[in-house]
Amino acid sequence: MTNDSPTDGRRAARAERIAALGYAYADQPTSPIPACNLCGHAGFVVVTHRDRYGYPARAMGCRRCGLVFLNPQMTADAYKRFYVSAYRPLVSAYHGRVIDAKSIQAEQRSYAVERGEFLDPFLRDAGYATLLDIGGSTGVVSHAWTTRFGLNGTVIDPSPLEIEEARALGLDTVTAIIEDWDAGGRVFDTVVMCQTVDHLLDIRGTFAAVRRLLRPDGVFFVDIVDFRAAYLRNWSVEEAIKIDHPYYLTDATMTAYLRRAGFDVLRTDYAADHLLVGYVCRPCVPATDSLPDPASVATLLDEARLVQNAPRGGR
Ligand SMILES: [Zn+2]
Repeated sequence: MTNDSPTDGRRAARAERIAALGYAYADQPTSPIPACNLCGHAGFVVVTHRDRYGYPARAMGCRRCGLVFLNPQMTADAYKRFYVSAYRPLVSAYHGRVIDAKSIQAEQRSYAVERGEFLDPFLRDAGYATLLDIGGSTGVVSHAWTTRFGLNGTVIDPSPLEIEEARALGLDTVTAIIEDWDAGGRVFDTVVMCQTVDHLLDIRGTFAAVRRLLRPDGVFFVDIVDFRAAYLRNWSVEEAIKIDHPYYLTDATMTAYLRRAGFDVLRTDYAADHLLVGYVCRPCVPATDSLPDPASVATLLDEARLVQNAPRGGR
């Protein structure tokens, strides 16, 4: 009845572009996640059965801590193949414009300026010499910050095309995912993870690695796509789920992750886009049993239900 509305037309065109890529998500190897990566609990709620691209990706929420994650999850090898060949074309097909290693650099430059202001009080004149950028993409952000704060930068990213751009900017580069990288005992003064944590396969393990890679009085910057912001802005939980993000974090779950890993949050930034939330942290004694307030878990699950069932015409 409403198939000829402009919105449905745009949706159909988007679905056609995604289908034309021929990426067979359902055929990729996956592993089941038996226990919550944040709190270890095994009681989950299946929140969605498909993602924004239309792929049959199930997202589950942990009843104890509110962490939301894809379950099952594609294997590390499947994700590596995804990043080499499918990721940018898929995001381009979704948005209907080319998003690649070149075109994302303008966006990364404005990101670097805005977050550079946020980090300035913590990095300027701090006596730091080195910066590690985990998931650093084309190196635009690292380049801006190493220049601004007088640091030597190292970028680690799984995409060869993006690492090529980072190398051209004079940065040290590693083509890998952080979970596989052996740093050989190196320690950095600052570690940053920009728009990356949602892409990790093991957040807990990665944060433990970051803690080892960071000097005791160093600074760690990380930001999340706030899952609540993502579903509230589109008024759709499915539109907030995408196969490129194994994890969906909120301020509550991220804060618990950081405390458990041994990071004290010095300042939090609700970014100007109203979607990302940034954290500047310093190492501290881990609070290994930190959990979000149970009220935040109830809010999340209730809110997801409300968004899924509110009358479409009445919002
Ligand atoms: Zn949990």
